[in-house]
Amino acid sequence: MKILVLNCGSSSLKFQLLNMENETVSARGLVERIGKEDSSVTFCMDSYEKIKKEIPVKSHKAGVQIVFDFLTSDEFKILKSKDEIDAIGHRLVHGGEKYAGSVLIDDDVIQTLRDCSVFSPLHNPANIAGVEACKELFPGLPMAGVFDTAFHQTMPDYAYMYALPYYLYEKHHIRRYGFHGTSHRYVSQIANKLLGREDTRLISCHLGNGSSITAIVNGKSLDTSMGHTPVGGLIMGTRCGDIDPAIVTFIESIEHLSPEELDDLINKKSGVFGVSGISNDFRDLEAANKRGDKRAKLALEMFDFRLKKYIGAYTAIMGGLDAIIFTAGIGENDPETRYEACNGLEYLGLKFDVEKNKNIKGELAEISTSDSKVKVYVIPTNEELLIARDTKDIVSSINSK
Ligand code: ADP
Repeated sequence: MKILVLNCGSSSLKFQLLNMENETVSARGLVERIGKEDSSVTFCMDSYEKIKKEIPVKSHKAGVQIVFDFLTSDEFKILKSKDEIDAIGHRLVHGGEKYAGSVLIDDDVIQTLRDCSVFSPLHNPANIAGVEACKELFPGLPMAGVFDTAFHQTMPDYAYMYALPYYLYEKHHIRRYGFHGTSHRYVSQIANKLLGREDTRLISCHLGNGSSITAIVNGKSLDTSMGHTPVGGLIMGTRCGDIDPAIVTFIESIEHLSPEELDDLINKKSGVFGVSGISNDFRDLEAANKRGDKRAKLALEMFDFRLKKYIGAYTAIMGGLDAIIFTAGIGENDPETRYEACNGLEYLGLKFDVEKNKNIKGELAEISTSDSKVKVYVIPTNEELLIARDTKDIVSSINSK
């Protein structure tokens, strides 16, 4: 079975073509800056060098068409015709309270995406554009949707409610939704395999440009750090994470900022970038810290402190801890952040393997000692694979009916 996985962002489109017989990727690529003059398309295949072309891509629909043209082109011969694709799996961002799992995409799902666009104004419309484009180009081909929010729908009300007037939840559905659900689900499944059981208490740290941390009990999300939007929780590349909410209205009045400017401030100008004034990239910050830059040092210390605070809080709400997982750009590649997060947790029964940790970048590894009661894993995330697996399951179940 061949499954195309599409991830349509606000101005980009990422794709992977997976062969599900052996779960291998036949081709992958990225269309960037859709709708802009300098849009470009990058394709990668095992047997070829990466190909990057500057081509005008006006819309997501045009982007999807370019992907199909590439896959079926005489030059690369990845597919003889588009009929070889058995199904499409879409990464969808916000499914509100309606979806707690992956779904076969129908008009109802598209309507839910529309209804939830108010929560995710950049991503949901792009997701809809991707789905609509595929519907037109592939009439009748089954498509599945895998929501970023779905995994966190198991959170109990006392975890997802905010202490705001109750009508705001009833009328406007303001609550914690959480994000990165597909990544947290993927890495937690692997951690449970490594632990050899399902009745586990895990803390999954997805640390990338956007970062979130999730408490997972027996495979289910109990609490997660991102909230109604992805701004809450951990300190991120350019997002502020948790702050006193009254600061926002205070800044609004003293700096005379519009709602759009405030949104830009907390989303794009804050985080480790805002504190350091240097970069959102941990490689730059660590280099600056080594040169003695005080604000880079402060930004990194703030990030580590917040992360450890969440690990402590999540251990408490789960009544103990079996494993911590590190994933995404920072989690997979940055030994210093992993060390700082785990250093001093010996009282939990965690024995960190300092030497092993130093050499682990982008690979599956256990970085606690063999006698550590609490395990620490680095697990590279693979959201596309999980989307493809869910799509395969959904399509197989309709085919068998
Ligand atoms: P996104 O949230 O955009 O998907 P990623 O998960 O790809 O982001 O993470 C990107 C971030 O990972 C970079 O901004 C950088 O901070 C961090 N990163 C990547 N490689 C390294 C590395 N070798 N050392 C430290 N940090 C790294």
